[in-house]
Amino acid sequence: MTEAELVRAISGGLIAVAAITFGLLFVVDAPYGRHARAGWGPTMPTRWAWVVMESPAVLLFAFVYAQGQYRAHPVPLILLILWQAHYLNRTFVYPWRMRGAGRPTPLVVVALGFAFQVANSYVNARTISELQVYAPSWLQDPRLWVGVGLFMVGRRINTWADGVLRALRARRSDAGYAIPHGGLYAWVSCPNYLGECIEWLGWAIAAWSLAGASFAVFTFANLAPRAWAHHQWYRRTFEDYPPERRALIPGLW
Ligand code: NDP
Repeated sequence: MTEAELVRAISGGLIAVAAITFGLLFVVDAPYGRHARAGWGPTMPTRWAWVVMESPAVLLFAFVYAQGQYRAHPVPLILLILWQAHYLNRTFVYPWRMRGAGRPTPLVVVALGFAFQVANSYVNARTISELQVYAPSWLQDPRLWVGVGLFMVGRRINTWADGVLRALRARRSDAGYAIPHGGLYAWVSCPNYLGECIEWLGWAIAAWSLAGASFAVFTFANLAPRAWAHHQWYRRTFEDYPPERRALIPGLW
């Protein structure tokens, strides 16, 4: 088996995992954050859980990328910068800015997240810096710039929406929950997840690879059921929760 075939097989496997995850998470809420509950075995502090789970997306990605023969070419570099801009924040900045990250995260969640990021980081870093040849004309291709634009819009939505939740939590003395308002929160319960899905859709379009597509599909499969679970939780918890608000997709769902 060549490495290109291996990367295709892993990427296909990740799409299969996404399909299973999507179905499963509508039945079993991922047990962290507001859905944390007993019965999921040993746990670790949530801030460290984020650092451990996401670290392959920074470190392994950078290491694998650096082995590729196209590592100094402009298109792979653009994709690298976008990826690392997101994951440096998610892994090393976001966890320490979280407010009241009191509830611990089960090790099983951390292990699954870590394993996913090892496979995901390997296939995507290897694809962009070694396996996929981006001709110089890709720099003029609208797909690259539409993808970059979508990534930036998604990232703005994601970081803004996470910031609204942080500010909401900072105003509470009990580290509890309140109804978020303003901007996209008028439309959906989880604009942070919407932004994340748009980011990775954009990255996948810019990279135009099966590996990139598998990550975009997985992100949606992981976050859509969680957005639904959050949405139902908000409706159960707050009598005055705005009835017109949807879970993830404005005006639709
Ligand atoms: P949540 O929206 O569940 O929580 C984000 C933070 O805000 C947590 O600290 C949470 O506290 C707090 N919070 C949430 N809602 C409220 C509220 N109504 N009032 C006060 N505080 C609140 O997001 P996740 O923890 O699931 O995810 C965090 C980030 O990671 C997101 O940007 C998400 O897009 C990204 N992510 C990406 C994934 C992917 O597949 N690419 C997978 C999972 C996450 P608490 O923890 O106590 O609930």
